[in-house]
Amino acid sequence: MIKKISHIGVAVKNLEEAKKLYEEVFGLKIEGEEVSEEQKVKIAFVPIGDTRIELLEATEPQSPIAKFIESRGEGVHHIAFETDNIEAELQKFKEKGLRLIDEKPRSGAHGTKIAFIHPRSTLGVLFELCEETHK
Ligand code: ZN
Repeated sequence: MIKKISHIGVAVKNLEEAKKLYEEVFGLKIEGEEVSEEQKVKIAFVPIGDTRIELLEATEPQSPIAKFIESRGEGVHHIAFETDNIEAELQKFKEKGLRLIDEKPRSGAHGTKIAFIHPRSTLGVLFELCEETHK
């Protein structure tokens, strides 16, 4: 079951510059920065109430985030749904004809399990499914 919006992923060219906007202008607090070798991104989370913005900066030119910025510029990259059973959700979406980027979940930030759905099958929005594994 989809429970809520876990986070909104935002692609930025420079995380340090982005932090100035989110912290100094918006007055929000950055929490939990980490590097994902697998996804070739540096990630910073910005909690807002019950959800978060996930700032993403590419760590390598071949990073999906670098490619995204190259073709579409900085901006909203994906919307992540929180689910309590990611495998079941993926199976269900597959049966209903969605094109999955990840047939099986991979490990995301903060010990989560994540999987992406191809935006071509979801009206142009890149959706991520996300399951917290430590509760
Ligand atoms: Zn995400």
